[in-house]
Amino acid sequence: MTTLAAKIRERIRRDGPLSVATYMELCLNHPTHGYYRRGRPIGACGDFTTAPEVSQMFGELIGIWCAAVWQAMGQPERVRLVELGPGRGTLLADALRAAATVPAFRDAIDLHLVETSESLRAEQAARLADARPTWHERFETVPPGPALIVANEFFDALPIQQFELIDGTWQERVVALAPSSQALRFAATDSVPVERSLGCAPSGAIAERAPAREALAGALAERVAADGGAALIIDYGYEQPGIGDSLQAVKQHRRHGVLDDPGTADLTAHVDFSSLGAASRQAGADVFGPVHQGDFLRALGIDARASRLRQNASAEQAAEIDAALRRLAGAHGMGALFKAMAFAHPALGAPPGFERPAHTAKP
Ligand code: SAH
Repeated sequence: MTTLAAKIRERIRRDGPLSVATYMELCLNHPTHGYYRRGRPIGACGDFTTAPEVSQMFGELIGIWCAAVWQAMGQPERVRLVELGPGRGTLLADALRAAATVPAFRDAIDLHLVETSESLRAEQAARLADARPTWHERFETVPPGPALIVANEFFDALPIQQFELIDGTWQERVVALAPSSQALRFAATDSVPVERSLGCAPSGAIAERAPAREALAGALAERVAADGGAALIIDYGYEQPGIGDSLQAVKQHRRHGVLDDPGTADLTAHVDFSSLGAASRQAGADVFGPVHQGDFLRALGIDARASRLRQNASAEQAAEIDAALRRLAGAHGMGALFKAMAFAHPALGAPPGFERPAHTAKP
């Protein structure tokens, strides 16, 4: 049994079952045994691979996006460039290299990283030393001022609540102990049923809500609406809230049981972009998207960037560039599952990649 599993059992015995949100938070961010507090999760030798790790093109295009938004903001002398959950620092290393083509933008950047993992902070420090970043545990401590905020595969790691439809009422799903074996198992709260409507569904259906994600979206939107700038959120998820259980654990690139060996696997859930958009609008920002990641990257010129890279590449490298392009932008890779959404100051207008009306494909 992992140390965290023992601690979780002890806590349930003492205080009763945990909400799915509390369980997720403990698994990912427990101060000593949480998944992101230990180990190196990202990359071929880790548990999962993210878009910036697939190809340099991803971070470069986001760097160009930031430079273009900064120009649309009127080229402020100082701009906070904030990344939430920068992982190994790859996206920013590529973005800053690409941003160097607009020297005045590169000079205006004041870099802030929101990161809880000590080991990832060390990688970020090594990768991004020249840009002199400042680290934060939470977005709220990033100093005020015009900001460009980027979050790739960050919101999916923030906790969600789950509800189960039992005998016609929605009840919060919790993590409890099986009576005899004392193993972790899912149960429904036998206390107060959830009053609010979570939609029509068959008995046993699961619905998800994520107040922590909405609160963060609201905080980002409030910041850009007050001080100027924009936030770019890229993640896997759906355009409209749906019914279904999207909580999943991944370890060494394979599915893992959500309740097995807590703290040793990455635990995420799909992002409900409509709820983030609503929270952001309410906080006073304009909302753009979600658009498919593939459409977003194509609008930013990923095809031209790939052709350019191919010109100086060996046959083997050219094949890798083509594979990365398919994986990032193709409908069968990350191109359709992943979505991009932007929150912007109302004076800014549509940022690059969001000029066309959101496409209407079903999730
Ligand atoms: N954006 C990176 C990494 C995605 S993984 C990429 O695309 O490669 C999620 C990142 O968010 C990791 O850096 C992780 O350590 C960080 N993280 C997860 N939960 C966090 C939290 N609650 N607060 C701050 N950082 C968090």
